[in-house]
Amino acid sequence: MTNSSQLAQTKERGILIVLSGPSGVGKGTVCTALRGRASDLIYSVSATTRKPREGEREGVNYFYRTKEEFLSMIEKGELLEWAEYVGNYYGTPKDFVEKTIEEGKDIILEIDVQGALKVKEKFPEGVFLFLLPPSLDELESRIVGRGTETEDVIAGRMMAARDELELVKHYDYAIVNDRVDLACDRIQSILTAEHCKRERFMPAIQKWLEEVH
Ligand code: ADP
Ligand code: 5GP
Repeated sequence: MTNSSQLAQTKERGILIVLSGPSGVGKGTVCTALRGRASDLIYSVSATTRKPREGEREGVNYFYRTKEEFLSMIEKGELLEWAEYVGNYYGTPKDFVEKTIEEGKDIILEIDVQGALKVKEKFPEGVFLFLLPPSLDELESRIVGRGTETEDVIAGRMMAARDELELVKHYDYAIVNDRVDLACDRIQSILTAEHCKRERFMPAIQKWLEEVH
C-alpha cells in the first residue's frame, strides 16, 4: 500500500470565493478579520478610482488609480471584471487571481454584485457569498457610523443596496454579519465544506481505482 497515491498530494486548483453585500454591511471588516485568522486565504486587491479613506493603504486595501490609468487597464485586458459603483470605477486584476488558483491556493474577491455576476460567467465553479446586515436600520447606521461618506453618497449607497439585495438569488450562501467573529466562523465553515466536495477528490479516487486493477 505504500506506493498508492496520497490524497493530500492531489490538491488541484484553489477555490475562488466571491464576497459581496451592500455598502456598510462589513465586507472590509470581515475580510480583514479573515486575513488575520486564515493565513492561507489570499485576498485579491482591486484597482479603484475612489480616493483612499483614512487608514487605507495602496496595495493593501486597493490599488488607487486615476480614471485614465483605470481605462487603460480595461483596454489592455488586465481586469477580470470591472464595474462602476456610485461614481467610481472598481476592477479585479486578472493575472493575480488566475495565478493564485493555478497554484492551488484559495482567493477571496470582495466585489459588488455586477462584478460578481461577470466572475460567475468565467468561474461558474466559484463559491459566491453574500453578506447580509442584521437589519436595514443597522446597515444605514453602519454606513453613517463609518463617517467616510457624504449624505449624498450615503443615499446613493442605500439605493444601490436595494438593487443589490434583489440579486442575492445568484449567490450560493448568505451570511449574516451580526458579529464579525461569527461571520468569519460561518465563512470558514463554508470553505471547509467546499474543500470536502466529492468532485475535488475524483481525480485521486480515479487513480486509486486504476491502481487496484
Ligand atoms: P463595507 O466594506 O461592507 O462597506 P465596512 O467593513 O467598512 O463595510 O463596515 C462599515 C462599518 O460597520 C464600519 O464602521 C465597521 O466598523 C462596522 N461594522 C462592520 N461589521 C460590524 C459588525 N458585525 N457589528 C458592528 N459594526 C460592524
Ligand atoms: P468601497 O468604496 O466601499 O470600498 O467599495 C464599494 C463597492 O465596490 C463595494 O460593494 C465593493 O465590494 C465593490 N468593489 C470593490 N472592489 C471591486 C472590484 O474589483 N470589482 C467590483 N466589481 N466591485 C468592487
